[in-house]
Amino acid sequence: MADTIKASKDSFDELQFLREISLTLACSEDSQLLLNNLQAVFEKYLSVSNFRIFIKDESSNTLKDFVKNWITVGKNPQQELVENIFQRLKNINDTGFVLNNKLIKYTDKKDKLFLQNIKTEQNLLYFPVYNEKNIIGVIEINFNKLTKDIDLKRFLTALRIAASQINTTIVNKILNQKLCVQIKFQKVMRSIAKLIENQFELNYILPIIGELIDGFVQEHLIYIFTKDENDNFKLFWPLDCQDSAILSLLPKINKKKTYVISKDGKTGLFALKNEDKITGVVAASSNIDKLSKTDIDYLLQLSLQASVTTQRANSYAQVLKYATLDALTGLNNRRQFEVRLKQEVSNALRNKKPLCCIMLDIDYFKHVNDTWGHSAGDCVLKSVAKIISQELREYDIASRYGGEEFCILLPDTKIKEAAFVAQRLRKAVEKSDINISDEGLAGEVLNVTISVGVSEFDENFDTPQRLHQCADIALYEAKRRGRNRVVVYDESLE
Ligand code: GH3
Ligand code: MG
Ligand code: MG
Repeated sequence: MADTIKASKDSFDELQFLREISLTLACSEDSQLLLNNLQAVFEKYLSVSNFRIFIKDESSNTLKDFVKNWITVGKNPQQELVENIFQRLKNINDTGFVLNNKLIKYTDKKDKLFLQNIKTEQNLLYFPVYNEKNIIGVIEINFNKLTKDIDLKRFLTALRIAASQINTTIVNKILNQKLCVQIKFQKVMRSIAKLIENQFELNYILPIIGELIDGFVQEHLIYIFTKDENDNFKLFWPLDCQDSAILSLLPKINKKKTYVISKDGKTGLFALKNEDKITGVVAASSNIDKLSKTDIDYLLQLSLQASVTTQRANSYAQVLKYATLDALTGLNNRRQFEVRLKQEVSNALRNKKPLCCIMLDIDYFKHVNDTWGHSAGDCVLKSVAKIISQELREYDIASRYGGEEFCILLPDTKIKEAAFVAQRLRKAVEKSDINISDEGLAGEVLNVTISVGVSEFDENFDTPQRLHQCADIALYEAKRRGRNRVVVYDESLE
């Protein structure tokens, strides 16, 4: 049969063919484009109807179409054929190729075998793709009846050279892809580490971490779970997770087992840790792809970085809390009061909204300390602070201004309402029995009263502090008039 295809020296210009193959390989950046262009060259010189490249995917251990975005070629006869050819090429110690299901080694009399096995129509030729000494895939060339008179020996030589050139380019592309993944990984690691530079609010940080990891691990969906107050895992990001594989794996994460992979290899959980404690989990899941060893390595490192970031966010939040809050009462401290005063005054000016200030001081507090001791005094301070917090709206700002003085900012509140709030506070403190038995004084209950001054912001004030000064003047007047009362500032008090 082969003899019917007559050799003709001028019909197939293999040098021109190889030149075009080289040019195509050098010029096509994108893999899909590369394959299209190669196919065009094959079609131009040879009657090639189909040309594909399959590469062994490490995670699924199946051959995947190199350009079709790495989608697994489903289990079908054609897939099995390619897998089978791959195995046969892998098992020989020699190099070779497969033509129409016949394995031809280079040590064989290949030209003769090639000629014997070639058909006039529908020839399927497979060349191996090597990376160093390992076979990593196959090049499939499907050519029909050779239209031109071709010198088959020269045809085979040209094909082999083309295949080896393609091999080199493909290996470079795979290497390049791996390098790109590595670079992207480093970028994601850096981004997670850098999150801490401008945020330490976990509600803000965790979704960003989730999105960064999700963007990196493309084949798997990412979820983040945190532990609630009862030590149970709760989905934190995104809003919904119906993945039963993840939910059933969650209980397996513990101090000793900081990552788990499902039996089918498609789901992985990676712990978020704070020192020795598990604080959450990064979950990766797919119903198609298995997690490769590399995926797992990357996810382990990303989760570790996420742990470091969340741990640092937590410590920063603690430090900030202590820097802005009063340790005894948990209210804002004086420094924070000054910050908030400025903010609220500028908000009031900008939005043309009223703003009031309440200044209050515990009456005869020195007497409490002198009679019951300092820790009983502390207990009174805590109780008064608690009453203040309970009586206020969420957006009122209460601070411990000093010793037993408290200051409250009431945004969007007119003086009448503020005076009403002040009265309510005064009454609440007056009728509270403060239990000081915790301080070693069994069954002892104290009652204290407060004096209160109230002022309203006026846009003619020179400074924000003037608001507070006016409340203080009114407070002084409340003390002067006999204590346990509310006085609203007016100019006549000066
Ligand atoms: P007035 O009715 O005029 O306000 O009398 P007062 O005794 O409450 O006022 P004075 O300002 O003379 O006393 C305040 C006392 O508060 C003095 C100080 O020892 C005490 N004090 C300040 N800070 C704390 C604290 O953190 N804990 C306790 N237990 N006492 C404190
Ligand atoms: Mg006092
Ligand atoms: Mg005082």
